[in-house]
Amino acid sequence: MNGSADISMSLSQNVHQDMNVTMKAGLGVFGFGLLMLFVCLTGASNANPALFFFLSFGFSVVGGLMYIVPQLKKSPAGIRNNNIFFSSAMSRGAIAWIIGILFTGFYIVLYWFPHLISNWIRLVDPLSLILRGKTADQWFLYGTFYTLAVLIMGTRMIVKYRHSRYQILRTSSVMFFQLGFAFIIPSLLELLNQPGFYFTYFWPLRPYSLWPSDFQNLLAHPGGLGIFMIFWGVIMTFIATPVLTYFFGKRWYCSWVCGCGGLAETLGDPFRQLSDKSLRAWKIERILIYSVLIFVTVTTSLLWLNSYFSGTILGNLSGNFASWYGFLIGSVFSGVIGTGFYPIMGSRVWCRFGCPMAAILGILQKYYSRFRITTNGSQCISCGNCSTYCEMGIDVRAYAQRGENIVRASCVGCGVCSAVCPRGVLNLENGPSEKRFNIQ
Ligand code: SF4
Ligand code: SF4
Repeated sequence: MNGSADISMSLSQNVHQDMNVTMKAGLGVFGFGLLMLFVCLTGASNANPALFFFLSFGFSVVGGLMYIVPQLKKSPAGIRNNNIFFSSAMSRGAIAWIIGILFTGFYIVLYWFPHLISNWIRLVDPLSLILRGKTADQWFLYGTFYTLAVLIMGTRMIVKYRHSRYQILRTSSVMFFQLGFAFIIPSLLELLNQPGFYFTYFWPLRPYSLWPSDFQNLLAHPGGLGIFMIFWGVIMTFIATPVLTYFFGKRWYCSWVCGCGGLAETLGDPFRQLSDKSLRAWKIERILIYSVLIFVTVTTSLLWLNSYFSGTILGNLSGNFASWYGFLIGSVFSGVIGTGFYPIMGSRVWCRFGCPMAAILGILQKYYSRFRITTNGSQCISCGNCSTYCEMGIDVRAYAQRGENIVRASCVGCGVCSAVCPRGVLNLENGPSEKRFNIQ
């Protein structure tokens, strides 16, 4: 709490009262950048995309940082509960619904009606020409938006949790992997006429990595890089993933490397308290996430069978499975719902209910890992901060009150429960497997 006596439940409270000059200027600059972005939709920017890129993206980024950084720096580090449940944007109010509709609308246009944003795509042509040697498409535009969101909101995260070395390190890590491995390296591969590849996405999160079509394309590519990429995908899926999860739990991937987790931890941070903590949600989570894992496993097996029998037995069946998986899971679930519903269902909708990679990592974490969150039950004052801000909907407080270790398949090891605990009750630890489950 900031201790001020001016917190009001009035619908018309003056949110600008605590703003200093920099923040007000930042809001103005951000608003101008946003306005320019929408002006660009009309095609006004096509004559000089570089200038309008600077006026729209540049001003939005600078203005956003001018507003966010001073606002967080004048408050104590860490979570502040003041006003969060009175905020329309952060507690499913009208603003949250508007943001949610805009997010989902953007994804629908991006996937199925990209011609509607063709002028935005032209806007990032100069950057695309530098990085990829060719003009932009909708996926390059998406990558630019995505990376900027992770970088700006990641900076916000670092300032907000400046008291926690763990939060600073892991946020820097997701920013690094998004910028380097999910944006710059894939672009440079295109520039050098090499196969498109993401070194930080493995099967089953990126199912194509182990599909025969990808193998054939990579093998057909001259030079050794295609073979190395196949090797990398196989090693990361079958060897590195279980080994790293054994030592560190699923956090090594979900909270330090993955781009989906990176967006959830940065852009999604203002919405993490919206995750459903009910037992019903936990039940739905288990049904959905393992169903998606079965779906992708069956699809991958059918594709290989079909490839082995040269299509003589399965006909179009495996192709149909692959198309439906791409549409239902790849586009609708992970994109439209997974990100579009941040302001309504919390920041980890996809990671919690849909991601097949999280399902595998979760099984390994629960039954074959050194990771656990230990709880010092005698120190807990039942404030509930930990449960409130657990983005995976885990009722952390219930474990803390019993002094019971938290060994849950869904925990992504973000460490926010520990960072917001005023009593230092919770510790993320890697230790011997014995006595991980210290159920009272
Ligand atoms: S239990 Fe803690 S570390 Fe695990 S997901 Fe929830 S907040 Fe993050
Ligand atoms: S573990 Fe910490 S944050 Fe959670 S209820 Fe207890 S005192 Fe509060």
